[in-house]
Amino acid sequence: MSEKAASESRPLNFIEQIIKKDLDEGVHSNVVTRFPPEPNGYLHIGHAKSICLNFGLAQTFGGQCNLRFDDTNPEKEEMEYVESIKRDVEWLGFEWAGDVRYASSYFDQFYEWALHLIREGKAYVCHLSPEETKEYRGWATKPGKDSPYRNRSVEENLAEFEKMRAGEYDEGACVLRAKIDMASPNMNMRDPMLYRIRKQAHHQTGDKWCIYPTYDFAHGQEDAIEGISHSICTLEFADHRPLYEWFIENLPVPSKPRQYEFARLELNYTVTSKRKLKQLVDENHVDGWDDPRMPTISGMRRRGYSPASLRNFCEMIGVTKSGSTIDVGQLEYCVRDDLNNNAPRAMCVINPLKVTIENVKPETKKTMVQPVHPNKEELGERELPFSREIYIDRADFSEDTTLSRKKFKRLVLGEYVRLRGSYVIKADAVITDENGEPTEIVATLVPKTVGENPPEGIKPRGVIHWVDANDCVDCEVRLYDRLFNDEAPDAGDKNFLDALNPESLQIISGCKAEKGLVNARAEQSYQFEREGYFCLDSKYSSDDKLVFNRTIGLKDNWKK
Ligand code: ATP
Ligand code: MG
Repeated sequence: MSEKAASESRPLNFIEQIIKKDLDEGVHSNVVTRFPPEPNGYLHIGHAKSICLNFGLAQTFGGQCNLRFDDTNPEKEEMEYVESIKRDVEWLGFEWAGDVRYASSYFDQFYEWALHLIREGKAYVCHLSPEETKEYRGWATKPGKDSPYRNRSVEENLAEFEKMRAGEYDEGACVLRAKIDMASPNMNMRDPMLYRIRKQAHHQTGDKWCIYPTYDFAHGQEDAIEGISHSICTLEFADHRPLYEWFIENLPVPSKPRQYEFARLELNYTVTSKRKLKQLVDENHVDGWDDPRMPTISGMRRRGYSPASLRNFCEMIGVTKSGSTIDVGQLEYCVRDDLNNNAPRAMCVINPLKVTIENVKPETKKTMVQPVHPNKEELGERELPFSREIYIDRADFSEDTTLSRKKFKRLVLGEYVRLRGSYVIKADAVITDENGEPTEIVATLVPKTVGENPPEGIKPRGVIHWVDANDCVDCEVRLYDRLFNDEAPDAGDKNFLDALNPESLQIISGCKAEKGLVNARAEQSYQFEREGYFCLDSKYSSDDKLVFNRTIGLKDNWKK
């Protein structure tokens, strides 16, 4: 049992406890879960939690997890979403059991089961208008009243339902309802809708149907067909559980799944509603579903988050029965931790300032050697060309000689600094433009200081990064900040668009990177020393242009 939980020596979460008990008591001999996305948008970080939970349970207990598209709604669903969802689940590192499944492939069976309920006197065709239906339903504290169509004969219901199926009624003219209890304190039990008319083609079944089952009538039966042992969903479905159970009890289903609910993941500074994310895309507030600022799995991937960091995050936040908002800083912690351990190091000067080292001859070409990763010898070494002209970052130089050594551990006019993995240099003079802005520094290097301490009396202020000006590559760097300025962008009746951060993307061109980065692969992350973690952008990079996304900074600079 629970190898994963045991190996990580954490207590079992409440769902794992239920499953363990079911296995121990022989209620189930095999664990079967499913992840059931509706293909009406790209997956987001909340879905990642559900994926890690469902696939993770199957792994932990040696069972299986199905990927099932919950495509009972013909309007909103598109194949683009189906493809993106498959890609995202695989990228997260999970494998679904057998082929991808579609709720729509069970439509014939659902139709048979609808007929079954009608024949048993447990379903009827109702012609009340949507307004009337609402009125008849009552509300939480007021019992509903029976529809005048509730006591039709079985024969009449069969004939009416056949007319619905044959397209003889317009959309909205009638629906098929279960006959349960119009006075139930649970609104979901007040003769819920089973089928409605939608004269729309469906991406899997084409024009075969003009009636479609509701989520409630479909979901539990899909689970039963697939032999799902534990059907896990989010808390908002808790009130639907009695209905889920009613269908399972009243239909000749091949197995008896049970539904369990957990709290959905909410993150601060983030929206996790597909509808709102779609709006950001459709209204061009972002650059597509996979914009690196989006909380979508594809966006986080493009930004340079690793699958392991998302899995670690989901493990860290755990699975609970009550909802709470998680600090997005926790996600960022997991991303940074993983990159710190695994990302190769590189140097990139984002705002280049040229330094001419006068005691190096113009024809001199040297090669410095640095480890790819300071703690991972097995990753080998990288070669850094070095010559008379190099670039350092503008922000790493100051003419202000009064700056304290503690505050400014960089290059100051007349003083020394160490170039990472190379020499100690001294800034002798600065050339400025008409505005007094430095355009070039004239420097000298201290001989024999590569990997060695400088002679007595020479005290470099710190270590800065650099690249060889004669042998480096140009690149563009994209710096991202949070997409929303507001901790709770869509709380209450706020318009989440008002919280959009106008400075969430900054594009800087003319950056200079160490030349080895021409071999960077899309989405593979590097630590650009002293700057943060970056990866090659999969959308805008080409053979002639390198574009790097900043995945995340080196330190959390949000919690001030
Ligand atoms: P949205 O609210 O973004 O439209 P949804 O719940 O309609 O999401 P589905 O495609 O139906 O999206 O979700 C597939 C599965 O992912 C469901 O089992 C759902 O409960 C789960 N899920 C969706 N959002 C979250 C979340 N924020 N946290 C945890 N699980 C989630
Ligand atoms: Mg849903």
